[in-house]
Amino acid sequence: MELFTDKTIDKTRQGEAFSSEENNQHHFSRKFFIESYGCAMNFSDSEIIASILHSKGFGSTKIEEEADLIFLNTCSIREKAELTVRKRLTEFKKLKKKRPGLLVGVLGCMAERLKGKLLEEEKLVDIVVGPDAYRTLPNLIDEADSGTKAVNVLLSREETYADISPIRLNSNGVSAFVSIMRGCNNMCSFCVVPFTRGRERSRDLHSIVNECKELYNQGYKEVTLLGQNVDSYNWVDPNNGSEADFATLLENVAQISPSLRIRFSTSHPKDITDNVLFTMRKYDNICKYIHLPVQSGSTRVLQLMNRTYTREWYLAKVKRIKEIMPECAISSDIIAGFCTEEEKDHQDTLDIMRQSAYEFSYMFIYSERPGTLAAKSYNDDVDLETKKRRLAEIIEMQNKLSLESNIKDIGKTCEVLIEGNSKRSDAHWVGRNSQNKVVIFEKEPSKQFKKGDYAIVEITEYTQATLFGKVIR
Ligand code: SAM
Ligand code: SF4
Repeated sequence: MELFTDKTIDKTRQGEAFSSEENNQHHFSRKFFIESYGCAMNFSDSEIIASILHSKGFGSTKIEEEADLIFLNTCSIREKAELTVRKRLTEFKKLKKKRPGLLVGVLGCMAERLKGKLLEEEKLVDIVVGPDAYRTLPNLIDEADSGTKAVNVLLSREETYADISPIRLNSNGVSAFVSIMRGCNNMCSFCVVPFTRGRERSRDLHSIVNECKELYNQGYKEVTLLGQNVDSYNWVDPNNGSEADFATLLENVAQISPSLRIRFSTSHPKDITDNVLFTMRKYDNICKYIHLPVQSGSTRVLQLMNRTYTREWYLAKVKRIKEIMPECAISSDIIAGFCTEEEKDHQDTLDIMRQSAYEFSYMFIYSERPGTLAAKSYNDDVDLETKKRRLAEIIEMQNKLSLESNIKDIGKTCEVLIEGNSKRSDAHWVGRNSQNKVVIFEKEPSKQFKKGDYAIVEITEYTQATLFGKVIR
């Protein structure tokens, strides 16, 4: 059981296939189909991959039957994510029989973790490419065309794809992801990311600001700056040796235009500085929302997880955020049933959730990942039933907290960036407020809006997941 409650890992987008506007403008001799799984970084990477493939004459398609190349951009974070991909691969067997030239490629974290083993285990796979090797994809396709299985899983200390202009795929035209750094140096004991995505490296500040400016000029109104650990962004200008940290980057992007909203994900609690918080406060267009994963509320478990903070330290950080920005929403990631977790530790997790009053959370059962410190050194000793029960209690707590937070919004006004028609009715708009809460409001003939506009809305009703309101202006 997993819960995804906001758009950074949108459950409804798992396995989404992409296609782009470019197809209407060019004629492509071969077509690729790409499906993405996992976190926002993977969806953003698929846009880089599409750009690389387009420049070599491949067009995208959303219809797998008409594809010459099928790619799955995969996730390894939990065992279940890998099983989903394995199952999906079996579905391409029939297609391969029908179309003998069809190539199937596995990209991303699962490719990096399993490397050549994937070719042995999944006979129908022709191409295996890790997250730092996408530039070599066209050559690997040539290799595979000639009948050789092609693999490139080299990790890099430099690759940031800074010069590649991503092709926005299935975009709503309002918000876009912009990757600002890759990899992770943190080595949390449960996590496979440092092994699949390599060392941390930050992208050239100017290329990030230029990409955001271009998006704004194309009509986008919101950018989400992406990285496993955005607060440790650190870019050294090779021309003069000057350093830019995350606060500097945020400020540079915020200054593009007051009507371009900025979000970011994810913040490791140990790295988010006062400087970042003050920069957030200074600019109205930097959304007042921080994803600050706690993982566990027990200091003993946090130590085993190698998170480098204690329960008290984390709570002090939450207090500091609220001191500087009382209106700031905070969300979290929580793992239920990590190695050695006892009932008391679990109660500490429920308590830290209550004290932090999270607006949303992503909540997971611990899943042992081969190669991690936890897999090597600790026993995965909490039985599945207990893990499930604890997760259910964590979800129940989050539901209660989300509801309490939404009740407090009644009567308040907020600025909503309109993302489009509400799914339930064309007579309503849906968008998000600065705190990343979904807001739905009725269209009124006297107030003409379009997608991408900002509306000031008074909140009149709520559910646990959504706010409803009336437009003021
Ligand atoms: N870099 C981000 C951070 O540290 O906050 C997290 C990135 S990770 C892709 C997203 C979340 O997956 C983590 O915060 C953690 O809660 C969860 N996760 C990672 N490894 C896991 C595992 N082995 N079992 C269950 N959940 C896991
Ligand atoms: Fe994984 Fe920890 Fe890095 Fe996040 S900070 S990606 S949880 S190792």
